[in-house]
Amino acid sequence: MSKTVIKFPHKVYTALREYLLEDKNEKHAFIFGTCVKTKDGIVVLAQKVVGFRQEDIEVSPTRVKIDRELVTHLFEKFVESGADVLISCHSHPFDYGNVAFSHIDDENDRNLFEYFEKEIKKHKKDALMYTMVFGQKSIAARGFEGGEFFAVEKIVHLTYPIEYIYPTNARRSAKNIRELYHRQVLAFGEEAQEIFSNLKVSLIGAGGTGSILAEALVRLGVRELCIVDHDKVEESNLNRWQGGGYDDIGRYKVEVLQERIKRIRKDLTIMTFTKALFDKEVIDHIKDSDVIIGAVDSDSARFLLNRIALCYLIPYLDCSSGIIVKDGAIQRLASRNVVVIPGFTECFNCNDFFYDRTKINYEFHSYLKKEAKRRKYIQGADVKSPSVYALNMLSVSTLLLEFMNLFTGYKEQLYWNVLVDFMNMTEEIPRAYGYQAPSLRCIDCNDRLARGDEERVWELFAPEVV
Ligand SMILES: [Zn+2]
Ligand SMILES: [Zn+2]
Repeated sequence: MSKTVIKFPHKVYTALREYLLEDKNEKHAFIFGTCVKTKDGIVVLAQKVVGFRQEDIEVSPTRVKIDRELVTHLFEKFVESGADVLISCHSHPFDYGNVAFSHIDDENDRNLFEYFEKEIKKHKKDALMYTMVFGQKSIAARGFEGGEFFAVEKIVHLTYPIEYIYPTNARRSAKNIRELYHRQVLAFGEEAQEIFSNLKVSLIGAGGTGSILAEALVRLGVRELCIVDHDKVEESNLNRWQGGGYDDIGRYKVEVLQERIKRIRKDLTIMTFTKALFDKEVIDHIKDSDVIIGAVDSDSARFLLNRIALCYLIPYLDCSSGIIVKDGAIQRLASRNVVVIPGFTECFNCNDFFYDRTKINYEFHSYLKKEAKRRKYIQGADVKSPSVYALNMLSVSTLLLEFMNLFTGYKEQLYWNVLVDFMNMTEEIPRAYGYQAPSLRCIDCNDRLARGDEERVWELFAPEVV
């Protein structure tokens, strides 16, 4: 029995719910999706709703009857499609409590699962099937293995705030909130604390901002972290590298960081990678995260994180700060945070003001990269930019307040892009921009959304890039 999480982009989820709960009659629809297998279990990415035409089904308040031929046709469509997960969904619109599979559902589902195992798997060996029932206020969801049903652990709806739905048939462990978090529970409540302590966070970059973030996340209650950075501690980092000292010089940043945060709490699950981000093994460990935090200093890394986020339906928060010095005078001292909710907000690729695309293209090709360096179009990695602790802390603080908001909705609005320019704290600045829906022209937000492993993100970039 595989631990399963089902993730829905906002559009798919709302279309499905609206259709299923449109009126007082039971309805039936299917979801085509793709499966991401990880070391902990399975993440299902819902891609689209495949419904039936009203006239083809016979509905009454308690039963939905679909012609067997139609179901067979749908299975054929599934076999021909690129999808490898099929979810059979129906509604109990009369149910306002904790919805449950009925005895009739058990019988129907058992037949459906057995047919799927026998017939569909002949054509698609790795295909998986699940069933869901939607009540007005709750959902039940299950799979089938070895002749038995098993509950889906969690359903994620990518919206603001992020919605975690626990199926009524799943068993939830009792809340166990520690004294350690008492003071923040007073502000955000037990429910929020429970969410933070169940998140798997991937932190990309363990430099100036990353070192502060790692500690702050653990103090917030996050227990599972995947930290990626291939750099070692240098003396010139110590002006801002939180917790670092002379004894740490020459050691991998992620190792020092891991030791330090384990002093806060012993029962943490921490994976560290001393590799570049552009690596299949690393991506395999990130792709089942609940959230990605980027504390990176290159746009090519942002470009890749953005794409991973969209393909695997993972919210992505980017944290950065920058100081621009010209002729010995500071021109700009700013921190910027961006929050991308795949399929719900704009992504980095939707909007031109984030990247210089030509520059990113240069960075992705080693031949072009050399050429670009020669023309001084891009700087080499050895060029150090100015950086101070205080500004990094500002950037981390604003990001984490938005992070908490993303999962709890304590504010009325999500700020998807927050820019604080400390040089010009005038009325309009700091600026916080409310989110926009994804651009219809963005390939990442449309064609690549929820594509999972099919997109083969790890193959896109030359390994020498980062
Ligand atoms: Zn039913
Ligand atoms: Zn986009």
